Amino acid sequence: MINQDSGGYFFGKWQIAEDTWCITNRWSNFMYLLIGKEKALLIDSGTGEGNIRKFVEEITDKPIMVANTHGHFDYTGGNFWWKEVWMHKEAVECARNAFVDWGPEFLEDKDYPEYGINLLKDCDIIELGERSVKVLSIPAHNEGSIAFIDSKTKGLFSGDELESGQVLLFVRNENLPIREVAKAHRTNMERLKSMRDEFDYIWPAHNGVPLLPDRYLNDFIELDTQIIEGRDNKNENANGFGFGANTEDSPFAEFGKLIRSSYGVASIVYKPEE
Ligand SMILES: [Zn+2]
Repeated sequence: MINQDSGGYFFGKWQIAEDTWCITNRWSNFMYLLIGKEKALLIDSGTGEGNIRKFVEEITDKPIMVANTHGHFDYTGGNFWWKEVWMHKEAVECARNAFVDWGPEFLEDKDYPEYGINLLKDCDIIELGERSVKVLSIPAHNEGSIAFIDSKTKGLFSGDELESGQVLLFVRNENLPIREVAKAHRTNMERLKSMRDEFDYIWPAHNGVPLLPDRYLNDFIELDTQIIEGRDNKNENANGFGFGANTEDSPFAEFGKLIRSSYGVASIVYKPEE
């Protein structure tokens, strides 16, 4: 089903499990709605184009808690439709900063330009009513990244930290040398692998869904290791699925030269050390 709101923006949705929906927009962000007996959890809110709150309120009449996988604006731009949202403390710094200048009209139709922020931390449990969701801190792509594991469907919602196409390891609040970021990413992937019995599928925030856990976790662990050891297969052309780095109008042009490394199904784009 596709809905067009008064601004002409589209959302699409499809049901991925009982009481569980995937929602997308014209930027192919994947947001997820998990509905419990008492309340619903919306994982990420999209770019802010279109009234995402109205859209999800047509799916459920339960109170909706909004939580962001991280602070990048394609996941937090819809927060302004809610009085308060939830995120990791490291996500707060960039959550309200739009990637591009939307102009003053962007906030004019929003209900809460100064929405409140509540904090989530590692190992928090969100109770939705006969359904609980565990929070895991997995920062690498961005300092504020968290994942969610849903007890009901055994889904792992990984944000931008584990995706097909590629994971971007240069869009942090503070960009560190790639070896350090790859080390953090590998630590997170190994932790997720150690919790493998808690989830059956991975639902990322971009590109294709769902992902097969073992294949992706193992290939990313190997790729991270190759990058850390400086023996990764570097491709000078960083362009790829859902990601154009080398075009002139790319929003990533400001980062300068980027490298793409791949192993199996895993691919990482990063800024090489000078
Ligand atoms: Zn991101």
